[in-house]
Amino acid sequence: MRLTRYFLPVLRENPAEAQIVSHRLMLRAGMIKQNAAGIYSWLPLGFKVLRKLENIVHEEQVRAGHIPMLMPTLQSADLWRESGRYDAYGPEMLRIRDRQDRDMLYGPTNEEMITDIFRSHVGSYKDLPLTLYHIQWKFRDEMRPRFGVMRGREFFMKDGYNFDLTKEDALHAYNRHLVSYLRTYERMGLQAIPMRADSGPIGGDDTHEFLVLAETGESEVFYDSAVTDLTFGDREIDYDSVEQCAAIMEEFTTKYARTDETHDPALFDQIPEARRRTARGIEVGQIFYFGTKYSDAMGATVQGPDGKPTPVHMGSHGIGVSRLVGAIIEASHDDKGIIWPEGVTPYHCGIVNLKQGDAEADAACDALYQSLTALGLEPLYDDRDERAGGKFATMDLIGLPWRITVGPRGLKNGVVELTSRRTGDSQELPPEEAVKKIA
Ligand code: ATP
Ligand code: MG
Ligand code: MG
Ligand code: MG
Repeated sequence: MRLTRYFLPVLRENPAEAQIVSHRLMLRAGMIKQNAAGIYSWLPLGFKVLRKLENIVHEEQVRAGHIPMLMPTLQSADLWRESGRYDAYGPEMLRIRDRQDRDMLYGPTNEEMITDIFRSHVGSYKDLPLTLYHIQWKFRDEMRPRFGVMRGREFFMKDGYNFDLTKEDALHAYNRHLVSYLRTYERMGLQAIPMRADSGPIGGDDTHEFLVLAETGESEVFYDSAVTDLTFGDREIDYDSVEQCAAIMEEFTTKYARTDETHDPALFDQIPEARRRTARGIEVGQIFYFGTKYSDAMGATVQGPDGKPTPVHMGSHGIGVSRLVGAIIEASHDDKGIIWPEGVTPYHCGIVNLKQGDAEADAACDALYQSLTALGLEPLYDDRDERAGGKFATMDLIGLPWRITVGPRGLKNGVVELTSRRTGDSQELPPEEAVKKIA
């Protein structure tokens, strides 16, 4: 992409309304624009990152054997009356009436709708196990929308639902989700720690939240510092293996890590004092096993092996895709701007032309652009007629992992400058060498 043909409305000043760094940087980098409290347009740069996260989530869900689909944002109130949650959900639910006077709502989550789909089409235990998911906009009329996309009212969420014949099978689905989530967050360059949590209005006994440690996090968390040494890495996973998924579950959840809702000071005190940590965290996902809560209420049964109708065991599993954009920035920035992890960066490399209009510099930039593109990489070429300082500031702000600076002086010696956004290290190299380092 060439900057002269793009839409990147960068702000020079710090927007007064933004209280935390990710919100500030998303506004300044031209990623989002607020439309109403907690409701945002995703401008091209922000949209690109959002799509990258969505793709990672899809890839990891499909890898785990879960099936993508899409449910609507608007739902009929009837299903929610069946489960009893239409009244129970309270003012966070945005209720809408259509022209026929029918009660509708903008879905805050989809347990009811998916249970209805399931009961309409699945009749036998032979069709289990089944895990369906979608990535769709949700609406929750939050009391205090704030921190930009971190606590929006309209937000983008992956929610998945497992249907199993037995509790044992459903717990395997739970573990499978835990494993796939660990992989997902690591690919986004994040450490998200599974913590024992409280189930809230979804209901159920078994639940873990995934938290990214950050001072601006809204949750208070307590943990054994040894949990931060755990990494998933590039292990090969057989998602059908009950033992393997259970072992990873055990590995990542036996050390003490809890949110304030489930914190147990007596247990916490048993950890060696040097390893006890109290901190803040951002909730980027949650998994639940809630047994037959919805299948009982809504009559989602299958014919069991004994021929008798059996309510299915369910769980639901969410990832806050739009919140993650903010969480990644909270975890990865400096005073100049964002520092995108490689896996989620909107463009792989910036090209800065120090002398736009200079035939040699222009030609060198075009050639770099083409070689990078030929390798399947996406460069963002600042081809504006602007002074170098402004171009560097924009590149630092939007945080691409690499910058190639091209100017007549370097070209005389056959070199360009390659700079790492994360370390700030620069080196002079022939253009082809610079391309190789990035690829
Ligand atoms: P929170 O405690 O932050 O209100 P939640 O526990 O109500 O979140 P869940 O029902 O567990 O949210 O939804 C799954 C995920 O969706 C959360 O882990 C979070 O990452 C994301 N999410 C929830 N509410 C919002 C919101 N208002 N804005 C952005 N993302 C959200
Ligand atoms: Mg909430
Ligand atoms: Mg929560
Ligand atoms: Mg939650």
